[in-house]
Amino acid sequence: MEYYQIAIDGPSGSGKSTLAKGVANKLGILYLDTGAMYRACGLCALNNKIDTKDEEKIRKMMETIRIDITHEDGSQHVWLDGKDVSTDIRLPGVSVAASDVSAIPCVREAMVDLQRKISEGKNVVLDGRDIGSKVFPNAKYKFFLVAAAEERARRRLLEMKEKGATDITFEEVLRDIQYRDHQDTTRASSPLVKVEDAIEIDTTSISIEETLDTLLSYIKE
Ligand code: C5P
Repeated sequence: MEYYQIAIDGPSGSGKSTLAKGVANKLGILYLDTGAMYRACGLCALNNKIDTKDEEKIRKMMETIRIDITHEDGSQHVWLDGKDVSTDIRLPGVSVAASDVSAIPCVREAMVDLQRKISEGKNVVLDGRDIGSKVFPNAKYKFFLVAAAEERARRRLLEMKEKGATDITFEEVLRDIQYRDHQDTTRASSPLVKVEDAIEIDTTSISIEETLDTLLSYIKE
């Protein structure tokens, strides 16, 4: 039996994870949040007080790190060295650390291997930055989501506030997004790019529900 992958790439806050979850629910296939894996690497560096830009130290860290992904009742859990860090990886500071370590080639190699391994023998929708370009260049469907940085920051802030964050401002979230946009698009190793065969959707002024319908209409074709 042939299995297929659906790649949803784009910058932070473009709506990737909500849409990927929606697609997975609708089609009854696995959803893999690849950003969570880079977040676990970033968290590991922070926990061990390792400079997230020190390539040599991060390379050493990667020799012993253990990241596992499990799925329970449709939600993904991320385990770092045997501990469930699914909540910790969303703490402020981890996103920038994830972006820093994700620019280091040995981190990318390890995470891409893990993503391919988890996807083996299944139909899967993955969201990330390099799914259509690197992880699954032969994915059956490739989407590239974009949205204005201010709108992405507004959505991210709302999401964080819903989860109980009180001491974070719009300007801080926007700065985090702009820092990651710059770093993720300019790094040498698998930068965030729209591949030629990806369908680009601008989500700035359309709701997630409408965007989901658009995605599903392409998938049905
Ligand atoms: O998607 P999320 O915002 O959780 O990803 C956190 C960081 O992980 C991103 O800013 C990016 O640097 C990195 N990432 C990546 N490749 C992926 C997924 C995430 O480089 N496939």
